[in-house]
Amino acid sequence: MRRSCSISLPILVVLSAIAYIYYTTVFIFIEGWFGLRTSPGLMNAVILTVTAFMCIFNYVIAIVRDPGLVPATFMPDIEDAETPVHEIKRKGGDLRYCQKCSHFKPPRAHHCRICKRCVLRMDHHCIWINNCVGHANYKVFFVFVFYAVISCIHALVLLFGSFVQDAQKDEEQIRDSTRTIYIISGLLLVPLSVALSILLGWHIYLILWNKTTIEYHEGVRAMWLAEKVGNVYQHPYDLGPYENLTSVLGPNIFTWLCPTARHIGSGLRFRTVYDKMVSASTMR
Ligand SMILES: [Zn+2]
Ligand SMILES: [Zn+2]
Repeated sequence: MRRSCSISLPILVVLSAIAYIYYTTVFIFIEGWFGLRTSPGLMNAVILTVTAFMCIFNYVIAIVRDPGLVPATFMPDIEDAETPVHEIKRKGGDLRYCQKCSHFKPPRAHHCRICKRCVLRMDHHCIWINNCVGHANYKVFFVFVFYAVISCIHALVLLFGSFVQDAQKDEEQIRDSTRTIYIISGLLLVPLSVALSILLGWHIYLILWNKTTIEYHEGVRAMWLAEKVGNVYQHPYDLGPYENLTSVLGPNIFTWLCPTARHIGSGLRFRTVYDKMVSASTMR
């Protein structure tokens, strides 16, 4: 079942917040601190416009792009020993079947109760994009969070600079409306910057280990179970930090922060530690 893309209340809240922060930062804080006709004022306005544009552009792609539909024709190839389609980490390698969608689940795919379908390499369902974050839109979601953090911190610095300059003026010169804008913007920007920075840090950690949020939680349980019987659990898709980064963000470091998606593959199969060991032994 394909998803039907719809505008939800949280999406309108995010877009309104971006519009409000952008407008007040450019036309009140930059204008108040430097003036938009000066070179530092213009430079700050251009930088903020570029990061805000990248933020909205990636946000919209994350909303409209299908996160990864399991093809109706998908069949696990159990004969091929070199391409293990079994989920290595759970249930002793049983084939995974979704009762609700009536098809086999490729590795790393999960059923989303909200989208009512299976999603390839599912990370989580995000209410702020009214969509699942999965195989096909994970990178744009990450790039969106990155530019959102940069824009928020930049706007916060400009708010602070403008506020300090205004504080040196006479009380009467600062209008009540400007004071209200400082308060509203501060109340928006401080928690947003903190929350988005934590979210960005979390996803950088996940990318470095090539895990999804679901796999992180499954891994905690698997590690505990393995320790109980004296084994060591290893996440099967962890190929080392650099290979993990390139498999998620792309092979070209200059496009890591662009919404490119050519490198992601079908999402039905992912390179594992097992593949790495096989290719290393055949090269010997
Ligand atoms: Zn399903
Ligand atoms: Zn979902």
